[in-house]
Amino acid sequence: MRILNPNYIYIDGDFKRDIAIAFNSKIELIDNIEILKDKYPDAEIINCGKNSVLYPGFINTHIHLEFSANRTTLKYGNFIRWLDSVIENRDRLLDSCDSAIMEEAIQEMLNSGVTTFGEVSSFGAELEVCKQTPQKVIFFNELIGSNVAYIDALYSDFLIRVQASKEAKNGIIPAIAIHSPYSVHPIALKRALEVAKRDNMPISTHFLESPEEREWLESGSGKFLEFFKKYFNTTKPMTTIDEFLSYFDNTPTHFIHLTQAKEKELEYISKKGHSIAHCPRSNRLLGCGRLDLEIVKDLNIPFSVATDGLSSNSSLNIFDELYSALMIHSGEDLIELSKLLISSVTAQPAKIFNLNSGEIREGKDADFAIVKLPNAPLSLNDIALYTILHTKKVESLFIDGEKII
Ligand SMILES: [Zn+2]
Repeated sequence: MRILNPNYIYIDGDFKRDIAIAFNSKIELIDNIEILKDKYPDAEIINCGKNSVLYPGFINTHIHLEFSANRTTLKYGNFIRWLDSVIENRDRLLDSCDSAIMEEAIQEMLNSGVTTFGEVSSFGAELEVCKQTPQKVIFFNELIGSNVAYIDALYSDFLIRVQASKEAKNGIIPAIAIHSPYSVHPIALKRALEVAKRDNMPISTHFLESPEEREWLESGSGKFLEFFKKYFNTTKPMTTIDEFLSYFDNTPTHFIHLTQAKEKELEYISKKGHSIAHCPRSNRLLGCGRLDLEIVKDLNIPFSVATDGLSSNSSLNIFDELYSALMIHSGEDLIELSKLLISSVTAQPAKIFNLNSGEIREGKDADFAIVKLPNAPLSLNDIALYTILHTKKVESLFIDGEKII
């Protein structure tokens, strides 16, 4: 048994002082340090130091490790400009993304306190790296493909990857991702959702990310029309916004982005028990706009803040993302938003994906991120804000009770 003794602790959505945690691989007891010492006289006591704040390990729900080699290759500013550059440079980026590059990306997440991440896997190339990392990985095997002639081949490759992730163990949680409404044929999509439903696997999908996607799904026109003519020789979208949403009626899904969703779509998403991944930096860099957080909050839709991959971001540091979210939603109350953002990388994603983490509670996994503030905070209520403003790197990190940093 060990005991962690921080100055401050994030518990039940608030900050408290003089509370310590006794743990093995799970949290055993939460109480005053003296009471824990009496109860566990042989326990190793770890004092977290001055101005330390203990959080449950952070959860980054949406990244693309296979594209981690990108720094100055892909073009930002507009979604179609970016997509064109992905198609043009995809093979080169994938070829140059070796295990060392992916490990570096994972290390960046560890340094920022991420103990669980959601990896969207297009090819399965990163499964080994994900098996080796101490983090827990929701491994979203991605289905993509719109051409009917190739659907069977693509679908059987998808099933092989799903199977490999099921056999992986080592903290891998098998899951599926539908790439998007414009890139997956509805027949394959429905089959994949049946597989996910049968095995109770988490599901995610990119949806309503760019204005161009919205225009294409609504009227079959715009920049996407040129794109599809050029690369796929098609001129009609395979589905509509409402139809695509209805495919997920019986399978709660993590919708990625939704920057172009209107209130009626968000209402539908709320009604069907879905959730959202919010990636503010990726959305800004690809010219996609801003998620309507005011409506998301009004409708009480669970959401996570996630970095997205290095194909559309400059870092996988979750603090960078939280900082950007704080700046981009400038109409929100600063203190309340800070606390909401902390919950969007802890309790909310844990609940969305049914993880036994994301909260400091007895029986939960002993996943901890410990940060240090530069000075003592005058108010406990402001600690979330100070954490986001002043942290780049955690002081220490535990996963299942093991000290990683
Ligand atoms: Zn993505």
